[in-house]
Amino acid sequence: MQQKTLARQVVFNGYGIHTAKFAEVILSPLRADSGLIFRSSTLTSKYIYPNVRGDERGTAVLFSDGSAVQTVEHLVSALAGLGVDNALIEIDGVEAPIKDGSAKFIVEQILSAGLQEQDQPKRFLQIAGPKKLAAEGKFILALPAENFKVNFLLDYDNSPIQTDLGSFDAARDDYAQYVAPARTYGFQEELEWLLAQNKAQGASLKNAVVVSDKGFSTALRFPDELVRHKILDFIGDIAAAGALPQAEFFVYKSGHVFNHRFVREVLAA
Ligand SMILES: [Zn+2]
Repeated sequence: MQQKTLARQVVFNGYGIHTAKFAEVILSPLRADSGLIFRSSTLTSKYIYPNVRGDERGTAVLFSDGSAVQTVEHLVSALAGLGVDNALIEIDGVEAPIKDGSAKFIVEQILSAGLQEQDQPKRFLQIAGPKKLAAEGKFILALPAENFKVNFLLDYDNSPIQTDLGSFDAARDDYAQYVAPARTYGFQEELEWLLAQNKAQGASLKNAVVVSDKGFSTALRFPDELVRHKILDFIGDIAAAGALPQAEFFVYKSGHVFNHRFVREVLAA
């Protein structure tokens, strides 16, 4: 299998979910063996640990002057999920656009630009044996496998969210249909708290599924949309290892902070 980049530039813009700030994004082809490179003003930063940081709300890419671009996980997930190895991601702004809260828009843009095979073979990240992180009632287990696979178990106590298992296998090549349309979700009480802290300023019923004790703020796109979104985020976060590993993942209750802890302490160690 060969490395891939974009066949031509993709340009889009929009507002961030946390800052409500506007950003312009340009995705450009990049030569083989480059990886995913972010550029903000004059600085560049490869999307790989330790240039990547997760907090409860999302994933940021960090630059050498201490600045950061927030909420890049859906953008990276779209690129990695579609098998793009090399791309330049220029962002004029402090946060990637949220669009409808999923990766649907960006995937449609990338697929309409098309992908270009390159002259170098694809590099795979391999693990030598089982890798595990278990803490705080969460776990991530990775076993060596032929392809990247994720099995994610969603499980909340006292919630309208049903316990659900979602699975994505990169070999099926169905990221665009299975993962990309799944939207961000959040809890009503968490949203109220974030708004009071001047966070989630760009959040609305147009870019997130809000969960309350009454149920969901909007009809779900799939019965298992929420666990599919957890897989979307997981792909974007794990790509900070430098590529998606040839491993099958079993993930329980993880989020951005724990995903990045796994990359930092287990995969990059
Ligand atoms: Zn997300």
